[in-house]
Amino acid sequence: MVDTGFFDQGTLVAVLSAQPIDRLLDYKAPEGGCVIGAFVEVPLGPRKVIGVVWGAGRGGFDLTKARSVIRVLDLAPMRGELRDFLSRAADYTMTPLSMMLRLTTRAPGLSDAPSMRKVYRLGSGQPERETEARRKVIAALGDYADLAFTLAELAEVANVSTSVIKGLVKQGVVQEEDSPRDLPYPLLDPDFSTVKLTPDQAEAAAALRVSVASAAYGTTLLKGVTGSGKTEVYLEAVAECLKKGRQALVLLPEIALTADFLKRVQARFGAKPGEWHSAITLTERRRLWKMAGEGGVQLVVGARSALFLPFRDLALVVVDEEHDTSYKQEEGVLYNARDMSVLRASLCSAQVVLASATPSLETWANATAGKYKRLELSTRYGAAQMPEMRAIDLRSEDVPSGRWISPSLQNAVKARIAAGEQSLLFINRRGYAPTTVCRACGHQIGCDHCDARMVEHRFQNRLMCHQCGETKPMPVACPSCEVEGKLAPVGPGVERLAEEVETLFPDARISVLSSDLFGSARALKAQIEQIAAGGCDIVIGTQMVAKGHNFPNLTLVGVIDTDLGLQGSDLRAAERTFQLMRQVSGRAGRVEKKGLALLQTHQPEHPVIRAILSGEEENFWQAEARERSAVGVPPYGRMAGIILSSQHAPEVFDLGADMARRDGPLRAISAQVYGPAPAPIAKIRGRFRVRLLVRADKGANLQGALKAWVAQFRVPASIRLAIDIDPQSFL
Ligand code: ADP
Ligand code: ZN
Repeated sequence: MVDTGFFDQGTLVAVLSAQPIDRLLDYKAPEGGCVIGAFVEVPLGPRKVIGVVWGAGRGGFDLTKARSVIRVLDLAPMRGELRDFLSRAADYTMTPLSMMLRLTTRAPGLSDAPSMRKVYRLGSGQPERETEARRKVIAALGDYADLAFTLAELAEVANVSTSVIKGLVKQGVVQEEDSPRDLPYPLLDPDFSTVKLTPDQAEAAAALRVSVASAAYGTTLLKGVTGSGKTEVYLEAVAECLKKGRQALVLLPEIALTADFLKRVQARFGAKPGEWHSAITLTERRRLWKMAGEGGVQLVVGARSALFLPFRDLALVVVDEEHDTSYKQEEGVLYNARDMSVLRASLCSAQVVLASATPSLETWANATAGKYKRLELSTRYGAAQMPEMRAIDLRSEDVPSGRWISPSLQNAVKARIAAGEQSLLFINRRGYAPTTVCRACGHQIGCDHCDARMVEHRFQNRLMCHQCGETKPMPVACPSCEVEGKLAPVGPGVERLAEEVETLFPDARISVLSSDLFGSARALKAQIEQIAAGGCDIVIGTQMVAKGHNFPNLTLVGVIDTDLGLQGSDLRAAERTFQLMRQVSGRAGRVEKKGLALLQTHQPEHPVIRAILSGEEENFWQAEARERSAVGVPPYGRMAGIILSSQHAPEVFDLGADMARRDGPLRAISAQVYGPAPAPIAKIRGRFRVRLLVRADKGANLQGALKAWVAQFRVPASIRLAIDIDPQSFL
């Protein structure tokens, strides 16, 4: 595709729209012509929709019937690099291109004319009378001469009422101007405040700087224990981008982590970066989208979808906590933002930094094979040491039924409270109890729409299905035998553990961190800050506490059920458990106090548990790599999941069986198909689910074969067929 392509008025152009039409549509170029990549408004039936000029039209029909592009939008044209990326990503994930386009245009008001707003600067007049409030306004405008404030912003910065400002406008002291609503972000200064790096860090930072300066594609694994300074190091790579006048993107796995990151960027570069995730306002969303395209933002921090912003000159993508499963989008377009970062970077000559204390086996294998560079920070910054790790053998502990905290763990927590230090108790289960059983008939309460048990959430006094989100009040009588008062919780969830902790430590200040207990990201952030400030003795948390939060006074981590993740048939069960346990344990002892991690387990001799305890990571990965390579599964083979779902069980089984039988195109590339089998969750939201798994060798053209294979079947409208390349979740 030629980037300089220009189409004169009246010539046919092919336009891609985000509508669910799986092909490009031809239109005549509008008055004044248009360039390839231009964002345009086109008629589609009775509607007007937004699209992108994708290339020359194909024609082959009566040209007098061709409709015209209505207008070219006032947006930076989509660059060839991004168009390429979308095409390649669509092919890779086997997603219609229109759906990929939708990922890149998720900002409101793109077709609106640029709107203006009033901003305020220092004028030339003198105030009639100096007052404290007026002086503050003038000082604020003087201090931030390079910024244009809105009325509300200026009032806040100067800490005065808006009427003071309006008075100054009348006197000509403050000038009111019209300015485009979507303003560039404040400039970041790479030398605003520099950090004295340790020799290890400096070496890693220098290597990243060289990579970024090369202006070529490359991927680097930045591995380092929690607290070793990975963030400090990759901020140096960002600084290099800033110096070169290019753009950087930092992906974080969770919104709750951005607040801390924004502060660090501000401290390091003197201003905040652009922010992109589900909690930002629509106005901000549009501003960032436009500024990414115009080069008005130098650094963006965001969730996985930020990778689809129309950057003008992207030079660096950092994927922090690259092993995190939340980088895989499991709905709509099934893509892994980590892998797609590498793809996009390779198309726009950018560098990728994959940062983690516990890399994914995929990344480890790529680094070992020399495809990625590898940088390592082996010690924690300052006096902080890695925690000591020990198992608590539950077989030799006396834990009463309905309780989960062993006497050993209890004593350890008690000692921390006495020393004025914090403990974290980790359990990877939300809610009160995973199962509710009738003691009269043995019935377990399940979801009406899914093949899943309802989880009691006592905090909300309801039962909830973790698959579809359906809730219902806790019944008094058993839905099966109708006996009253016999329903009982079985097993622990985070809320039930909290109850046990309250009983064991009645005087302790307890804080429960579970994603469903917070109405907003802000409430969660406040809670996290309060814990960090020492406002609690015992933190009880689910998976979300494992991610990057910094609790300086936390010296003990107790894992309630280490064995939980090792159950099940997931190919990544061992890897996940290993990562999660190392990550959670890493929460202990970040500053000068050495931490201790205690893992409650029934099988301390299990190889994965032994590897977690010994910390011999290379051995663990090598063993894991050997096992997977022996059976040719990722990263040593390729995999795709096919999920068929329908409201009628027989038809999905029939289609599944037919697909398994007519597997010629798969056999042609020596791929095997497994199934059909009921998916591990055989019913979700009233739809029955059947799964097939396809495995192929590493170099095989899996997508091509899948396409030919699926094309053989007529899939009725009542059946949904989803293809998941590189499945992460086997549900
Ligand atoms: P990681 O990203 O590996 O978890 P961080 O970059 O967050 O590590 O570093 C952990 C803590 O140590 C942070 O508070 C950070 O500011 C501090 N730190 C790391 N390296 C340095 C340094 N060279 N000078 C000052 N503080 C540092
Ligand atoms: Zn359900």
